[in-house]
Amino acid sequence: MEQAIVSVVGAGLAGSEAAFQLARRGVRVRLYEMRPVRMTQAHRTGLFAELVCSNSLRNASLETAVGVLKEEMRRLGSLVMSAAAAAAVPAGAALAVDRDQFAGAITAALQREPLVEIVREEVTSIPSAPAIIATGPLTGAALSQALSELIGSRHLYFYDAIAPIVAANSIDMTVAFKASRYGKGGDDYINCPMTEAEYAAFVDAVLAAQKVPAHPFERTIYFEGCMPIEELARRGPKTLAFGPMRPVGLTDPRTGRRPAAVVQLRQDDREGRLYNMVGFQTKMTYPEQRRVLRTIPGLHNAQFVRFGSLHRNTFIDSPRLLTPALSLRARPDIFLAGQMIGVEGYVESAAAGLLAAINAARMVSGAEMIAPPPVTALGSLIAYITDQSRRDFQPMNANFGLMPELDGRLRGRAKKTELASRALSAIDAWIARYRLAIQPPVTAAA
Ligand SMILES: Cc1cc2nc3c(=O)[nH]c(=O)nc-3n(C[C@H](O)[C@H](O)[C@H](O)COP(=O)(O)OP(=O)(O)OC[C@H]3O[C@@H](n4cnc5c(N)ncnc54)[C@H](O)[C@@H]3O)c2cc1C
Repeated sequence: MEQAIVSVVGAGLAGSEAAFQLARRGVRVRLYEMRPVRMTQAHRTGLFAELVCSNSLRNASLETAVGVLKEEMRRLGSLVMSAAAAAAVPAGAALAVDRDQFAGAITAALQREPLVEIVREEVTSIPSAPAIIATGPLTGAALSQALSELIGSRHLYFYDAIAPIVAANSIDMTVAFKASRYGKGGDDYINCPMTEAEYAAFVDAVLAAQKVPAHPFERTIYFEGCMPIEELARRGPKTLAFGPMRPVGLTDPRTGRRPAAVVQLRQDDREGRLYNMVGFQTKMTYPEQRRVLRTIPGLHNAQFVRFGSLHRNTFIDSPRLLTPALSLRARPDIFLAGQMIGVEGYVESAAAGLLAAINAARMVSGAEMIAPPPVTALGSLIAYITDQSRRDFQPMNANFGLMPELDGRLRGRAKKTELASRALSAIDAWIARYRLAIQPPVTAAA
């Protein structure tokens, strides 16, 4: 019988990792990459796994979830992690790389793989299955159209508008209060009330804060309904108070009066550990978000699980479309991976490619589909993005807030160490149970 070939579309972070993993699991791969024949608005080279912006793969320490995710990937034989180690540059607590060496090493490694056939062309329709589609946040018009016909246009998004998420236990409930506007919907929201003076100072702080500059291709991004708070503040001193911060239908139990403005937070996970700041998408830089948003009454000690942002980003409504194995519910032989499934970041994208490849390889050999345990960094992220109860889906990065709580009362560093060690024991057990170990890649700098 002829051996199945898995099509992998896009040799970015996710597609490169996926192609390598498939090949090392004995599966033939046809890897399509359109660069340099056709470029995206952000890429500059024809190299695989080009880093389009920062050269950092973020924190390296096991006291962060993204550090744990990287370690899980190493244990699964990740090509991206191996290339990053070979191309690392000094960067303190972060894992940063020489971008050309990094992408060069990945390109060379895939060119050396006997089971990988590389096709440099743009894919404009859904490829023959089994397939992994990993064309990234800047997927072009033709393939987007084909995808939208496959999954339904209402499930395909072209921008993300991410509001910050706060750890519930860091909100000061002696200041904030639970209520819904006009009592409709019970106590679903946490409300942070502001006086006139606090509101005016907040608007000034938002206007003065440093912002992330938009890429030229993002200039047309703002549309009503997902306007960043600084753009609303710029339109007039009262605009926010008539928009996401409107206080109507709410009474502050401490004063018995309606506040001048409120910031509302809505529960973001089943367990009620995470709350997102409703309508607070923003392009303030991360340090500025931490500083400015902590001036909000009730949020003075807020721990931010995710910061806000606003990007050009092609992604799908994963909670409705994807299985935890990263295949489409309606087409189990088509997998999606990378930023387009609503994970956020280079490392998360590559990790998604790795998981999609494990399952595509298992499909080819007739084995059951699998997902990593939810106590792992990868498993908790996948559980979040494929949680069918989730509405208003927006992309997510790896973080400890997604993992199930520990028993006991550990805090701070001790808690992070325990979460990390639980995750790594679980990934080891998962690898052993399904025999997922592969020969680790050897990647010399290109
Ligand atoms: C402008 C910008 C800046 C970003 N900066 C950062 C950052 O600093 N740090 C961070 O962690 N994350 C960042 N991200 C988010 C994300 O981590 C990266 O976009 C990451 O590269 C996503 O990996 P991916 O594999 O999903 O997509 P990509 O790495 O973009 O890979 C997709 C690949 O598919 C190819 N392709 C696309 N369409 C087709 C087609 N039809 N046929 C064949 N090939 C095709 C592309 O050429 C590309 O090589 C940024 C995103 C953008 C858009």
